Amino acid sequence: MTLDIYNRIKDTDELVFPGTRLAVTEEFIGGQGTFSEGNYIYAAVTGKVNINIEKHEISVMSKAKPTVVPKNGDIVIGGIVNASRQMITVSVNYINNKEVYPTYTMVIHVSQISREYLDSVDEAVRLADIVRAKVIDSKTIPLQGSLIGSQLGVILSNCSRCGRKLEKIGRDKLKCSECSYFEKRTTTIDYGSGKLAFKT
Ligand SMILES: [Zn+2]
Repeated sequence: MTLDIYNRIKDTDELVFPGTRLAVTEEFIGGQGTFSEGNYIYAAVTGKVNINIEKHEISVMSKAKPTVVPKNGDIVIGGIVNASRQMITVSVNYINNKEVYPTYTMVIHVSQISREYLDSVDEAVRLADIVRAKVIDSKTIPLQGSLIGSQLGVILSNCSRCGRKLEKIGRDKLKCSECSYFEKRTTTIDYGSGKLAFKT
């Protein structure tokens, strides 16, 4: 399955987004613009995939842009690079629709993930999901964020089993079109539209 993603991407100019599963760690070494989790290598930035066959290295080349400084209330987009019971860590790639590089790190506490009480963050979001979030404290390092709001939450997510895109079939219910696996997420209204922009 992972090889499908690799084969699909290698000969195109297709951009990958943070959290896209690129390869398995048995086959490739993760280079620049990637991170590894478990047995997989994921994109950490938005960009073009670059594969060095000799070194078995896969990397993602980001189009570097002057860095935007985040402010409270800014809307950001990024991939979840770490998830524990109590918080998630997001690698922020867009601030107010402008791509930023190097990325900012944002943490979102479980209490800021849903209006409903959650025992654990994985009831609403999972590692490698792409989320649209709001900056609630820009003075701290890492930034503090929130996913509470109708246009905030998961905007794209892949199946935990097979890695394909999950389709939205209900308010917070997603289904894998490939293996029919069901998953729960706190999604945005425009989940899956591919729109990174925040509309007011
Ligand atoms: Zn699946």
